[in-house]
Amino acid sequence: MVWTAGVRGAPLGTKLGVKPDRSGRVPVCRSLQLAGHPEVMVVGDLAGLDNLPMLAQVAIQEARLVGSNILAMTEGRDVAEFQYHDRGIMATVGRNSGIAQIGPFQFSGFIGWVIWLVVHLVNILTFRARLLTLLNWAWDYLAVDRPIRLLVGARPTRGLPEPPGAEE
Ligand SMILES: Cc1cc2nc3c(=O)[nH]c(=O)nc-3n(C[C@H](O)[C@H](O)[C@H](O)COP(=O)(O)OP(=O)(O)OC[C@H]3O[C@@H](n4cnc5c(N)ncnc54)[C@H](O)[C@@H]3O)c2cc1C
Repeated sequence: MVWTAGVRGAPLGTKLGVKPDRSGRVPVCRSLQLAGHPEVMVVGDLAGLDNLPMLAQVAIQEARLVGSNILAMTEGRDVAEFQYHDRGIMATVGRNSGIAQIGPFQFSGFIGWVIWLVVHLVNILTFRARLLTLLNWAWDYLAVDRPIRLLVGARPTRGLPEPPGAEE
């Protein structure tokens, strides 16, 4: 089975009076403000700027800039422009297996998986949330709980005999 998934901007983007692109992202200027509406700021998957990847790192960095820009606006200062700093990219590929690319370094397999765990754990905000996540992960790992569940709709079985008891 080959399974692919993608992300797209939330439907809220269709209500902002601008045309979202095919990923559902709305065009924003370099300060992440909506053209014609400087009071509206857009970050993350919804922000269409430089075709940046729809990743948590982009959303976090954009949110930080928008936070400081809102402060600047309330204090009458100029807003700053967004500059993405690529800190690397990583993903889990399965149990004990992950990939990570940090600058010129590439890791895969168990080491890549451990790096993914540590980086994501460190980035969780509060100690309580971090502890709960760690306990959840530990439980899933020890119980060999598969995190992905698929609901698959059955196709009509044209020409095939009905299974026993299907007519009841
Ligand atoms: C399966 C999957 C795996 C992923 N894996 C990774 C990964 O390994 N690394 C990585 O960096 N990124 C990953 N991503 C992408 C990452 O999750 C997103 O890029 C990131 O969450 C974007 O943050 P955001 O704040 O823009 O959007 P979100 O995190 O989606 O937050 C938007 C929030 O707005 C809320 N919302 C929407 N519409 C409204 C409304 N009308 N009113 C009020 N609230 C509303 C939503 O409920 C949601 O809580 C993954 C995404 C998916 C789907």
